[in-house]
This record gives sequence, C-alpha cells and structure tokens, in this order.
Amino acid sequence: MTTTYPNIIDGARDDAGAGFDVINASTGEVAGRAISADAETLDRAVAAARRAFPGWAATPWADRQAACNKIAGLIGAHAEDLARLLSTEQGKPLNGVGARFEIGGCQAWTSYTASLTLEPEILQDTPEGRVELHRVPIGVVGAITPWNWPVLIGIWHIIPTILAGNCVIIKPSENTPLSTLRLVELMQEALPPGVVQALASDGGLGPDMTTHPGIDKISFTGSIPTGSKVMASAAKDIKRVTLELGGNDPGIVLPDVDPKAIAEGLFWGAFINNGQTCAALKRLYVHEDVHDAVAEALVGVASAMPMGDGLDEASIVGPIQNRNQYNIVRDAVQDALDKGAVLLCGGIPEGNDLFFPTTILSGVEPGMKLHDLEQFGPALGITKWRDEDAVVALANDDKCGLGASVWSSDPARARRLADRISAGTVWINKHGMIQPNAPFGGVRQSGIGVQFGVDGLRECTNVKTIIS
Ligand code: NAD
Repeated sequence: MTTTYPNIIDGARDDAGAGFDVINASTGEVAGRAISADAETLDRAVAAARRAFPGWAATPWADRQAACNKIAGLIGAHAEDLARLLSTEQGKPLNGVGARFEIGGCQAWTSYTASLTLEPEILQDTPEGRVELHRVPIGVVGAITPWNWPVLIGIWHIIPTILAGNCVIIKPSENTPLSTLRLVELMQEALPPGVVQALASDGGLGPDMTTHPGIDKISFTGSIPTGSKVMASAAKDIKRVTLELGGNDPGIVLPDVDPKAIAEGLFWGAFINNGQTCAALKRLYVHEDVHDAVAEALVGVASAMPMGDGLDEASIVGPIQNRNQYNIVRDAVQDALDKGAVLLCGGIPEGNDLFFPTTILSGVEPGMKLHDLEQFGPALGITKWRDEDAVVALANDDKCGLGASVWSSDPARARRLADRISAGTVWINKHGMIQPNAPFGGVRQSGIGVQFGVDGLRECTNVKTIIS
C-alpha cells in the first residue's frame, strides 16, 4: 500500500489538498505520496509561524540549543527508517556515501550546530559612550531545497535558523519531499507548534513563498536560474536571501602526484552522490606528465564501483534522480563525443531506466558542454594541461565559483596554487569535503552568503546595535 506523507502545519499533520506521486528513481515505482500545498495552505502555515515567532524568539538560547540536541537524538533514533525512505525516493544507495551517510550527517550537523552561540559584541565602552552589537532573529524564514541531498540540506536550512530564534517553513523539491516531511514531523516532538513546518508542492509553491508578505527571508538551495528568479522575486519587499546555487568545480592535478594514491579521492570528489552534488569535482585538469596514469587509475576505481537499486545492500552508486537531469547528462556526454572527446569508461546507455554508467572522458576542452556547464551527474571530463598560469586562468574562467581543488605531493606548492583559485572553498588533495565548522558558499553566480559555523549562523540574524 502506498503511504501518504502529509504536510506539517502548526505542529500537526495536515492533508488538505491534492496528492501527488513521488517516484522511486531506482525502480520507477511509486515511493509514496505527498500533498501539494496551495497558496491558502501557505497562508495558514505563515499565520502559524507568525504566532509562534515571538515566543520562540524569546526562548533562552540554551533552551533552543536543548531543542536542537533533542532533534539530533530523534534523527539518531529514526536513522534507519529515514535512510530507507530517502533511498526509496531519491534513488541513492543505503551504503557508500549514500542514504545512511546522509542521515548520519544530519545528526552530526545538528549536534555541532546546537553547540554554537552568538554572544553580543561590545564595540566601544568608553567615557564617550557604549556600543553593543546584538544578533537578533529575522522572523519567518522560507526554506526551498533541491532533490540531491534533500534531508541534509533541509537540516542546513532549519537548524541554524531555529537556533537563532526564527521560525521556518520548508518546501522540499517536488522530486524528493517525503523524507523532509517525515523529518519535520519528527521535529515536532522537540519544538512548539509553528516553529518548523513543511509544505510539499508538485511544482508551484516556490514563487508563492518568495512573494509572501509574511515571510521575511528566503533561504534557497538550487540551480542558478531558479536562484536568479528567487532573488528577483524577493527583491519586491526586500526579503533577506541566502542563495546556495550551482557549481562547476575545477580540480587541478600537478605533475608530482602519485596517480594511484589520489585516484579514490578524485573518484569520490567527482562521483559523490553519482555526481549530483553542488560541490562535486566537475572539471578535472591533469598535467600532461601524469595524465595517462591518473586517467587509468581513476577509471580503475570507477569501474569497480557497484551500481544498482538503492535498497540493495551491495550498491555503492545509484541512478540519476530524475529524467530531466538524466537528459542533461546524456546531452553533455554526446556533445563531448561529437566534438572529439575520448570515452575512457561508461558511455550513453541504451536502457529506459535512470541508471547511467559512471562515465569518464579525456580530451574534454572549453566549448564542450561537459566542460562549460554543470553536468550534475555521473560524467566527468579530463582536460590535459601544460602551463600553470593557463590552467589557473581556465579554472577561474567560469560563472560559478563554489569549490575547487589542488592535488599535489608538495604541500607548499599546493597551498600557493590554492591562493590563486577564485572559489568559496579550495580543498587540497580532496574535493567536496564540507564540514559543519567551515563556512561554505560560493562566489560569482554560485550564490550569496554562507552556511555552516558561526558565519552561517550570523546569516540567520539581523544586526541590532544599541548605542548609549
Ligand atoms: P532547482 O533550482 O530546479 O529547484 C530547487 C528548488 O526550487 C525546488 O524545491 C523547486 O521546487 C524550487 N523552485 C523551482 N522554481 C522556483 C521558483 N520560481 N521560485 C521558488 N522556488 C522554485 O534545483 P534542483 O534541480 O532541485 O537542484 C539542483 C541544483 O541545485 C544544482 O544546480 C546544484 O548545483 C544546486 N545545489 C546547490 C547547492 C549549494 O549548496 N550550493 C547544494 C545542492 C544543490
């Protein structure tokens, strides 16, 4: 029997509205049903959030920390069920860097974030006067999230926001709403009604949120084109925005590497979550001296990774989550092949399902979609380089600037090169390894603002200065 996961409004399950099917990316079967909230449902949720806000904002910081810690405990207690639900709707395997990893990350992120504080700062205390800087909650925050890491990204939006004293209404992606709805249902055990609410939608609710006068901030993770619409829409009544958008991350491999030693790190950097990760390695630049050896070692790792149904304990990589994304990856690979790239492993499959073999191509150059656009899937292009200045210029010549990496056996040389890369995060000898104490965000069109750590927490507040 198909389970319906209701919206969560004012502390309770709410099933007003038409249901829609959520499809299991691995099997094509119905994973469950969600209920599409409309503008009237959103009004009710906003009213509940506005009722809850004064009390929650006045709740002592330590009590809000305790509530977040309780949420971490609830996630831990329900981890396996959440992981299975996530795997069923998203397609990602339970194992590998998959659904169990994601739910474990939710618990860890929640616990770490709950430990943070924002103390007032005394900017001046002299006979002439005193200046205090306080961080105060913003109000009601609308969180809009994508389908690739739906639960973990939900946690990134919810936990710092409520810790800082705000209320949240989260709208998960229409492709993967179920695990977020269940997560927010669990959170009700730790929170007063209206502090965190979840509304699913089969497509239309995002613009209603970005224009709603009762929402003070939009916290958005998704693609650059949608982020641009969110920002334009939020501009109407000057809503605050945090935008975590797309990436086309470069990785530069220097000639002094040991190809076999870095191959697994390169693989996970590029193919974590089957490449459907904002900060995955998407352009791999390898020095000509080690190009062939690195390509061979990387193909060796990729070819050994079992791909299959997310719920199969043997699977380490899964399908692409949806047909739209599958077509983007297929077109990028076809375009690269048409323009002369060389297929090293994988390739465009014949089947009608969403499984796309891990695909690596060499000879990928600017002008090919696989190089110039965010493929967001299991295909990676390798570009050979000779001149360091030229490869740095190429790496930086992109509208995105989320992450980047440098791979070398010489720490000092790698560190110097990292200084020349323009991105929100530069990793050395790894890629995409985000952590809750390291601010994460993009430059250029990869976004505005950061998440994680104290800097991320500050984004959930307004500055209030008291001068006496
Ligand atoms: P998307 O932009 O298509 O959708 C994201 C969310 O926006 C969904 O919930 C969707 O329903 C909603 N939405 C769609 N139109 C809207 C509108 N007009 N107004 C308001 N909301 C609207 O992105 P996606 O395909 O779900 O996710 C993939 C993208 O997300 C990739 O580009 C990826 O790089 C990016 N991403 C970025 C980060 C980061 O932290 N920088 C993390 C994960 C994913």
